[in-house]
Amino acid sequence: MSREPAHPAIGDRFGSSVVGVATRVVRAAGTRWRRRVAARATDATDTLTRHPLMVLAPHPDDETFGCGALIARARANGTPVTVVVATDGARSTTSARLSAAGLARLRAGELHAACAELGVTDVVQLGFPDGALTANHDALTARLRALVEDRRPGHVLLPCREDAHPDHRALHHAGLAAGPARALAYPVWAWFEGPVFPAAAAGERARLWAWAASRSGWLRVTCGPFLDAKRQAIAAYASQTTNLTGEPGWSHLDPRFVAAFLGPHELFRAP
Ligand SMILES: [Zn+2]
Repeated sequence: MSREPAHPAIGDRFGSSVVGVATRVVRAAGTRWRRRVAARATDATDTLTRHPLMVLAPHPDDETFGCGALIARARANGTPVTVVVATDGARSTTSARLSAAGLARLRAGELHAACAELGVTDVVQLGFPDGALTANHDALTARLRALVEDRRPGHVLLPCREDAHPDHRALHHAGLAAGPARALAYPVWAWFEGPVFPAAAAGERARLWAWAASRSGWLRVTCGPFLDAKRQAIAAYASQTTNLTGEPGWSHLDPRFVAAFLGPHELFRAP
């Protein structure tokens, strides 16, 4: 994950006097929305685990949050899975104790530990600078096209363009431009922020609400017994889920964010 764009804590958007009530209302709306989306989705648990998968992650951890249980289930079935991580993740926080290069090394180690929990050994790190995927569209697309031609996955799973993060959107577009036979998009920030989308630009809201309200087109994968592997993989990302150094400025994911990805299903849509 990278907190490069403003992803304000939902409560930060409201005055302090109403913050408690507003935060609870927004949180409850998110929980209800996620349940509704999963309930109306078509089950694709078997079809998605039958053919080789390639998972495109903007930052180390997006593959786990968005697709961890699907990855673990596919690997348990003997289905090949390639995890491709586009950036080094060096901008998830600032730190006086850890350099950007040190953070990138740490996150690479976490990525491999998380993928081991999910049963994946085919991990490709493209090493683009965190926050720079939009500026590297052509080079990124070329790298992805070569990987797709080499691995020939049945499905490429890419971040959805509804995520309010430039790297997520850039990888969405580059992943499609790489020409996969079939692609599906998984939500990360949009899954946590929907249906309120506090980080969205005002001009985007109508499109995002239409996406959130879509009654058809959702596919779901049941996490089932593979939720444990996903939980272990998330735990491998201690730099993202805990205050690793104890510094006041260390940026890490809210426990409510993590909880939103430990439900019974993972969700996908055609891009
Ligand atoms: Zn990310």
